[in-house]
Amino acid sequence: MSKIIVVGGGPAGMMAAYAAASNGAEVVLLEKNEKLGKKLFITGKGRCNVTNYCDLEQLFRNILTNPKFLNSSIRQFTNQDVYDFFNDRGCALKVERGDRVFPESDHSSDVIRTMEKALKELQVKILLNTGVKEILVKDEKAYGVKLEDNTELEGDSVILAMGGKSYVSTGSDGYGFTLAHRLGHHVVTPQPGLVPLEVREGWVKDLQGLSLRNVELKLINHNGKVVYKELGEMLFTHFGVSGPLILSASSYLKEKEGPYILRINLKPGLSEDMLDARLLRDFEENNHKEFKNALGKLFPTKLIPVMVELSGIPGEQKVYDITRTQRLHFLKQIMELTMTVTGTRGFQEAIITRGGVDVKEINPSTMESRRVRDLYFAGEMLDCDALTGGFNLQIAWSTGNLAGTKAEQKSWESE
Ligand SMILES: Cc1cc2nc3c(=O)[nH]c(=O)nc-3n(C[C@H](O)[C@H](O)[C@H](O)COP(=O)(O)OP(=O)(O)OC[C@H]3O[C@@H](n4cnc5c(N)ncnc54)[C@H](O)[C@@H]3O)c2cc1C
Repeated sequence: MSKIIVVGGGPAGMMAAYAAASNGAEVVLLEKNEKLGKKLFITGKGRCNVTNYCDLEQLFRNILTNPKFLNSSIRQFTNQDVYDFFNDRGCALKVERGDRVFPESDHSSDVIRTMEKALKELQVKILLNTGVKEILVKDEKAYGVKLEDNTELEGDSVILAMGGKSYVSTGSDGYGFTLAHRLGHHVVTPQPGLVPLEVREGWVKDLQGLSLRNVELKLINHNGKVVYKELGEMLFTHFGVSGPLILSASSYLKEKEGPYILRINLKPGLSEDMLDARLLRDFEENNHKEFKNALGKLFPTKLIPVMVELSGIPGEQKVYDITRTQRLHFLKQIMELTMTVTGTRGFQEAIITRGGVDVKEINPSTMESRRVRDLYFAGEMLDCDALTGGFNLQIAWSTGNLAGTKAEQKSWESE
């Protein structure tokens, strides 16, 4: 019987351990935390967006970095397979808006419990509070790991599923990248992904806590090219902007294409003419009021002083005195509220890590390293990332499944 060592008890590691064990291997799963799936527990605001129920074409479109590399792993263990995996094991799932899949109970703990039960049934040996500090390699072949207490464990193959660098308190501290680098792997510089953005404009601080629904956001690079455009929800914070639209936009940032600007259309449902007609109507109704007191129907209260300031129209000016030029300038502000991105927040606030182990050095049909034999990678350690919606967990489940399956098959073939 082959012996497989899996490092990291997140979704990728647990699925790798499950796949290897269900194919007959003796599996040891090593997790440095006191429990499995610490990050999984906080996913989807504690509800765990397990996967996405869209068709595969759509699924691949939501993977922004190296979707082709993931072709085999995802086709061998699709979103439907993930859905069935949990449903068949008593963790009933439901599909919500945007095809997002959650446990019916709304508890991520049910997803973790299901994985733990499946691992125990297959007699996977789970060692908690067990950190790995070195991978043992001889003649370019991995044959085991060295633990933090210097104990050595040997096996036929080693699967690394140590996660990225975000939310360090969950256990993913980037040490996996250090180990991969030591083993000769190129690591594409890790960066915070799906992360709030910092902006230059001081007025943003005045809007702290304000969330805007149904706005259109554009992310524009230094050449004026719109690299992301979407309708949705965003939030102002003390440092800049956050919320679903902003997190998604952050995934399109490329160092070489900055500085970027964000442009918000506050009234995307209206054409320019329609918005002008709307302004004329509102101004008509408030003809004798001061400009600053005439905008109550147009914006949330918190936004009014900022919009007045940006319009260049004195707040005390009577509405009947507003000129056409002033009105059209104001209209432009509403359709093109602009901010300059100065950077992203750090890893501590990033949902995922972009970058990671270069996929050119990994066989996409097996997840095995092309540098070190019998060494496999899975999950967020890889230079693959996707938008929100359950796609990042799908990457973890699929790559974990493939690594576990192939590691077991290979040990068996070479017996
Ligand atoms: C707040 C938040 C919400 C999210 N929500 C969603 C969501 O709803 N849907 C979605 O698809 N994605 C979501 N994600 C992303 C998703 O959680 C990750 O992509 C996924 O957890 C990656 O899985 P992984 O197994 O590769 O890594 P991780 O989950 O990070 O697991 C890696 C494990 O390896 C262990 N480890 C690290 N180093 C060592 C070592 N030296 N020795 C032993 N063990 C080690 C760690 O302790 C950790 O348990 C969210 C992320 C965050 C932070």
